[in-house]
Amino acid sequence: MKDYFERSYAQESDKNDKIYEYRERFYLKDDEYYMDGNSCGLCSKDAEETLERVLSEWKKYGIDCWTKPEHQLFLYQDYLGELMAPIINAKASEVTIHSSTTINIHTAIGTFYKPTKEKFKILVDDINFPTDRYAIDSQIRLKGLNPEDCVKVVESRDGKMIFEEDFIEAMTEDVAIIFLPSVLYRSGQLVGMEKITKVAKERGIIIGWDLCHSVGVVPHDFNALQPDFAVFCTYKYLNGGPGSPAGLYINEKHFNKEPGLAGWHGNKKETQFDLKHTFESANNAGGWQTGTQHVLSMAPLEGSLKMINEMGVGILREKSLMLTKYMMDLVDEKLVKYGFEIGNPREDEIRGGHVALEHEEAMRINEALKANKVIPDFRFPNVIRLAPVPLYVSYEDVYDVIEIIEKIMINKEYEKYSKKRGIVA
Ligand SMILES: *Cc1c(COP(=O)(O)O)cnc(C)c1O
Repeated sequence: MKDYFERSYAQESDKNDKIYEYRERFYLKDDEYYMDGNSCGLCSKDAEETLERVLSEWKKYGIDCWTKPEHQLFLYQDYLGELMAPIINAKASEVTIHSSTTINIHTAIGTFYKPTKEKFKILVDDINFPTDRYAIDSQIRLKGLNPEDCVKVVESRDGKMIFEEDFIEAMTEDVAIIFLPSVLYRSGQLVGMEKITKVAKERGIIIGWDLCHSVGVVPHDFNALQPDFAVFCTYKYLNGGPGSPAGLYINEKHFNKEPGLAGWHGNKKETQFDLKHTFESANNAGGWQTGTQHVLSMAPLEGSLKMINEMGVGILREKSLMLTKYMMDLVDEKLVKYGFEIGNPREDEIRGGHVALEHEEAMRINEALKANKVIPDFRFPNVIRLAPVPLYVSYEDVYDVIEIIEKIMINKEYEKYSKKRGIVA
């Protein structure tokens, strides 16, 4: 393609981008390239406005903030669940916003893990984000069992990817639950969720998905997929802000189950304030609520989810795929000669929202990037993750970032940084 590797191509693509103007609703800095939206999405004016509104409701009403505002804060998590549901195409009753991803794994495993002599294993991969595994091991121990006996780990063939055949083979009679990430946090692989879910269901295995790295950038169709449960954080591609409470999806066929971690906010709203000592589940995903919600932490999510619903995740996915493809092509053209490799899958069907650039000097190059006003995300020992988030990253940003990396390599700018590791990486 003519000019493909020139700035003019990037500028032209930005002109044709239907959602380009959404950038202006985010707090982007003029001289900075934000490539870390897969770890902490940026703040938008929309998110700020809903946070300020909820804050003003507290100011105005005191305790009556629970019931007086248009969106009663007592039911706020249900309202956010309604806004969240279209993003994974689930029923509103199946989605709630609650606590953290880790806690939601605890409550989901606590709900569904009913080990018997014959069926007692939880099937996982070995390259998922570690907190998922910690929660699973902990739930197994709480049953008085040993994770060494009860966790069945399928090792990745190459340390980067999950191969669905390996999991299908591993779904044996003794497996009670399978729990996997939708997109791998390092390699950015989008896992074959349909196939794995289908086989799990055929074999009577409970299936749960961790959508942390896909929700808000990869469309999901849970009405079609029908998994048993899913968890996801809301501060990555959903831009809910640091520590914004997580999402929990519970398939409606399980509404009658007892939540793994019960609490009074999971009680039916009609009788919650009867304060009886017998728990009556809300009979929707809200039944998995525990204590009083973190309302102020949730509030930015309202603005953020409404913004995403304006366009739908399909459009975001389209642009995301084009941005990551453009980035990879620029890497091939300009950076491979300096020893970079692309660690994520190249095919659209199995690629998530970020590019995983591998280099033996990744840590120091990452430092040089920061000095050049690029905000990357380093994963020890050799991966720089770059997430061109479609809501606020432009084609020209992608062009500039690759040009900056090229400059860093030509001038060996990374050599002045230490090889010592920081804490948050
Ligand atoms: C980001 C992420 C988490 C985060 O868990 P928190 O409890 O929200 O801190 C968990 N699992 C995966 C796969 C993630 O990518």
